[in-house]
Amino acid sequence: MESPRCPDCGGNMEVGFIPDYAYTIQMQTCWHPGKPEQQTLFGMKFKSGAIKLDHKKMIAITTYRCPECHLLRSYAE
Ligand SMILES: [Zn+2]
Repeated sequence: MESPRCPDCGGNMEVGFIPDYAYTIQMQTCWHPGKPEQQTLFGMKFKSGAIKLDHKKMIAITTYRCPECHLLRSYAE
């Protein structure tokens, strides 16, 4: 995708992403369809609040930043 123009001020937006920190690893933030559902093991919920994920349905999020007005705009391409 070509860098979009800022919808607020018309500036050229810069491509980037928002890192997702989980314990000791860093990943790119992803979009997932549906509402978050808590993960269970034998009917019991995890204390960590872990949610169910279908990795095949996840789409990495690209976030553009306007250097003029600092607006962020995200796309799941
Ligand atoms: Zn702008």
